[in-house]
Amino acid sequence: MTLLSLQGVESGYGPMQVLWGIDLEVNRGETVILLGANSAGKTTLLRTIIGLLPCTKGSIALEGEPIASLPPDQRIRRGIAFMSELGVFPSLTIEENIRLGGYFLSSSEVRRRSARLYDLFPALAERKREPASSLSGGQRKMLGIAKVLVSEPKLLLMDEPSSGLAPVFVKQVVEVLRKAITGGMTLLIAEQNVAFLALADRGYLIDGGRVRLTGTRAELEASDAVHEAYFGL
Ligand code: ATP
Repeated sequence: MTLLSLQGVESGYGPMQVLWGIDLEVNRGETVILLGANSAGKTTLLRTIIGLLPCTKGSIALEGEPIASLPPDQRIRRGIAFMSELGVFPSLTIEENIRLGGYFLSSSEVRRRSARLYDLFPALAERKREPASSLSGGQRKMLGIAKVLVSEPKLLLMDEPSSGLAPVFVKQVVEVLRKAITGGMTLLIAEQNVAFLALADRGYLIDGGRVRLTGTRAELEASDAVHEAYFGL
């Protein structure tokens, strides 16, 4: 069943148009990847879906309901979460960051969900009273993921989870996301790192603010366009 549907979406920054008629769908339970080089428009697309940028033309629907004219907080209330490249508050403890992700939940519910998350992220459990600033880059990214997962979003939008991470940490993030996906999450990830293609059911190759190609993971892996852009062939 279609969870998110975009038709002919246009967006940009004031007079500078970046997206030119994006059609995209994410089905419930699916992991969909947005591939594309620097400046292709991936971040702009995620920011338009969550409502941080206006959708100047076209439509965005969540569970069949139009959301393009709603402010971001109402889109969040309807179950969309956005994890930006930054993700965590360094001066707050790990526990406080996670609690912030579930600010609208009762404390008993946050405790229940945190316990599950600490199972998924044992490195965070060991240090929950330490400030996020004490974590390594990879662990901070894990905390960013835990902070957004605590809200149990219907749809999680992730912007470049690999940014700033050494390859060994990228691997860890991919593995944690694989576990979270097994738990039934729906994910739309913008990434330049092809390691994340392994998680995806389907994907879109974005180029110059347009969908250049869409297909299943296998189709993307076999595509010349993806190979040219990502595998340097
Ligand atoms: P990256 O991996 O570099 O973030 P991306 O695919 O996410 O790439 P976007 O960040 O969406 O690309 O950028 C798309 C275009 O929008 C680029 O030409 C970029 O220069 C422009 N852009 C991004 N942010 C702004 C902004 N705040 N104001 C004006 N133009 C912007």
